[in-house]
Amino acid sequence: MDIIANFIDGQYQAPLQGQYIDNIEPATGQVYGKIPDSSNEDLELAIASANKALPAWRALASEERADYLLAIAHEIDRRLEALALAEAIDNGKPVGLARTVDIPRAASNFKFFAHACSQFSSQSHAVAGSAINYTLRQPIGVVGCISPWNLPLYLFTWKIAPALAAGNCVIAKPSEITPKTAALLGEICQKVGLPAGVLNIIHGTGKNIGQAICQHSEIKAISFTGGTITGAAIAQLLAAKFKKLSLELGGKNPALIFADCDFDNTVEQVFRASFANQGQICLCASRLYIERSIYAKFKQALVAKAKKLRPSDPLLETTAMGAIVSKSHLEKVLGYIESAKAQGGTVIAGGKQVTLIGRCQQGYFIEPTIIENLNNDAVCNQEEIFGPVITLQAFDNDEQALTLANDSHYGLAATIWTNHLARAHYLAENINTGIVWVNCWLLRDLRTPFGGMNNSGLGREGGLEAMHFFTESKNVCIKY
Ligand code: NDP
Repeated sequence: MDIIANFIDGQYQAPLQGQYIDNIEPATGQVYGKIPDSSNEDLELAIASANKALPAWRALASEERADYLLAIAHEIDRRLEALALAEAIDNGKPVGLARTVDIPRAASNFKFFAHACSQFSSQSHAVAGSAINYTLRQPIGVVGCISPWNLPLYLFTWKIAPALAAGNCVIAKPSEITPKTAALLGEICQKVGLPAGVLNIIHGTGKNIGQAICQHSEIKAISFTGGTITGAAIAQLLAAKFKKLSLELGGKNPALIFADCDFDNTVEQVFRASFANQGQICLCASRLYIERSIYAKFKQALVAKAKKLRPSDPLLETTAMGAIVSKSHLEKVLGYIESAKAQGGTVIAGGKQVTLIGRCQQGYFIEPTIIENLNNDAVCNQEEIFGPVITLQAFDNDEQALTLANDSHYGLAATIWTNHLARAHYLAENINTGIVWVNCWLLRDLRTPFGGMNNSGLGREGGLEAMHFFTESKNVCIKY
């Protein structure tokens, strides 16, 4: 049995109240470990340690902070295989995906913010002949980072790296559903000699320890990635506390596919955008709007690909589609498919749970699922499913495509597939999402702002936006 401990003050520590939660392998449905169900007492230890570490960490020259971050990145690279395997077991994602996407990206997060912190500069504004203003960007203090289960180490480090780079000490909580690689990050911090208390990793449920982190008066900022309902609850909780808050929330992302697209490449990329990581990426396309003249041909191409993609054991090198992260999430996704049928939708590919033979017999697998004949106000076109389920609708012109795409409470990411330059610019300007990709998906440049509008969140992360979030700006005006 794999027993995980909290990482507090540079040491692994059992939860003080001795309470644990089961950790389940999604591909087998079996409990394979235990994680701390941490309490306020564990949090107090972590905060005391972070406060102790803070003066020295924030005073460190940025080049020295950068050295620690680079060392962590190199250690992640060195442990690529072990981390990828741990991620695949813990999350159910194909080990090949963890090896090529999740873990390298976790290393890149630390590399990127190591360089960002050494290049981070302040602004100055001169008032000709009489005064000069300069703006200090100071670390906030002790900050909280809370991340979800879909890209466990990838998103955990996406928050921790800029927080540390900016000179803060961190209390971080991974999802209780996928704690393993976050727990292993502690070993890496020990190996590179990160000063004790600079990064503390506490495990447990969102309801208990997650909420306690958000509420604690010593924690001055919260960076949260997760569901919209949780984000709203956190925002309410913090409203009267005036903490800095960054919310990266859910999405219901439209893909607009025009007849003048590069057909084969678009089928390939849109399919990937729909079903990568079993559709459990906040940026996945879930509402596909296809120009009527190519609707039938495009649909057929997608259905043919979906029929070939069979979920299988995430630990096999050949697996392209793994398990859904938990039994409750599997049931939620299946429930959405049922609701689509009840609302008149036609399932044209997939739609069913898959039972594998052998070690994964009790695992949580679903066929890649394509649904058509739903109105835009159907539940499956309005609510985030966060699984391998997409819907198709036809449109007749650009304005209709835009109206359908914008008919959503969410606003995270959109993709536009066209070779018409003016159309691409017009739609990109008018679509209500924080991120627009034209003729590509998930092509990430870590310098760019990342985040959504409306129910998809508040604020932006990435590049300088993250460095700004994790610092407090102070203007100094000097008259001479
Ligand atoms: P949740 O909102 O359930 O949980 C996210 C994190 O918050 C987990 O660590 C969770 O802990 C914790 N948490 C839950 N309740 C509270 C609370 N009241 N106070 C503090 N922390 C809490 O999301 P999921 O883990 O289910 O992740 C899926 C969601 O994340 C999807 O909606 C997806 O779109 C979104 N997401 C958004 C991204 C973006 O960048 N916009 C990127 C990736 C995902 P625990 O799991 O232990 O309960």
